[in-house]
Amino acid sequence: MYEALRNELIEYSKTIGIDEVGFASVEPFQDLKTRLKEQQELGYASGFEKGTIEERTTPSLLMSEAKSIIAIALSYPTRMKNKLPNKKGERRGMFARASWGIDYHIVLRDRLEKLADFLSEKIPSFQYKIMVDTGELSDRAVAERAGIGFSGKNTMIIHPELGSYIYLGEMITNIPFTPSQPLNVTCGDCTKCLDACPTGALVEPGRLNAQQCLAFQTQTKGFLDDEYRDKLGNYVYGFETCQVVCPYNKGVDFHHNEEFEPDPELVTPKLTDLLQVSNRQFKERFGMMAGSWRGKMPIQRNAIIGLAHYKEESSVGLLIELMTTDPRPVIRGTAAWAIGKIGTDEGFHAISTALQEESDKEVIEEMKKGLSFQKLEKEQEG
Ligand code: SF4
Repeated sequence: MYEALRNELIEYSKTIGIDEVGFASVEPFQDLKTRLKEQQELGYASGFEKGTIEERTTPSLLMSEAKSIIAIALSYPTRMKNKLPNKKGERRGMFARASWGIDYHIVLRDRLEKLADFLSEKIPSFQYKIMVDTGELSDRAVAERAGIGFSGKNTMIIHPELGSYIYLGEMITNIPFTPSQPLNVTCGDCTKCLDACPTGALVEPGRLNAQQCLAFQTQTKGFLDDEYRDKLGNYVYGFETCQVVCPYNKGVDFHHNEEFEPDPELVTPKLTDLLQVSNRQFKERFGMMAGSWRGKMPIQRNAIIGLAHYKEESSVGLLIELMTTDPRPVIRGTAAWAIGKIGTDEGFHAISTALQEESDKEVIEEMKKGLSFQKLEKEQEG
């Protein structure tokens, strides 16, 4: 009986934009447990994880009637139509692809709810618990066990045809579906992602130090370490070099769900515009994107770093205004650093003047850093 239902569910999933469905047992994730403990001990965890390690690796602790886990994957686009020019005087930032379109947490939850409705109609005693990214279970460990993809050296789940540009979600159920077979595919000798990671966050194949990962760093709220500022480029949210270089992602660009289509104005916004939005405008414009979950501050901090990356002289006036009037020390300080990086006389003069008025220790430190670029310039000239 469940075999027929399993097949019907797979067929139904295709009609609602789900690219792949897999089934996993609810056995504890022993290997993951060991790895999570190691990650914690090494200080490699992001701190965004939910639940205890025990809960994160034991499905029956999350639902006592658990008999199987249904895992799903939805592909997302990698190229946008109507790309906007990123030119001098109008520099644009970039949200990583995983934040394009409507927040995937909402979309995947919707698809999983539809699967749940489908099963509830057939099995009145059906019970389930849905998780997408923010739940206790590791979406990646479940997807791997459910045969959705294999675990790459970049720690992403890689689907042989869809690559790693997929969103993952799952649902614990009380139906004993037969588990799928994990895939027998690997990265082979490839090490492109490890070689390309600018911060060495992939400390060994399949092991990420989240604290060093630029995608994670774009979501923090304090000052960004100088080392990371120089490597971020124009990303204002997320980072994806380890995916871009992966051969499994070559030429991959699927547009299966309308919700994930990017609006170029939103996913590549003008950096100076980002710095001038009010809280309300930010919510209205970006509130439906996954990348807005930490609020506007980290994105504005990253936007300032983006302007420094481009040495965008036309933004110096705005940066001076932020340095001297913004109530947030992280914004004032990062602006001072950026002004120094851009390196105009007007900018250096403004930092010197502002330094007299500033009382925040960290901001003062950033102002001094900003001024040190002037010395560097003079030395190079001399
Ligand atoms: Fe694996 Fe190479 Fe892709 Fe890294 S870049 S995940 S090593 S295939």
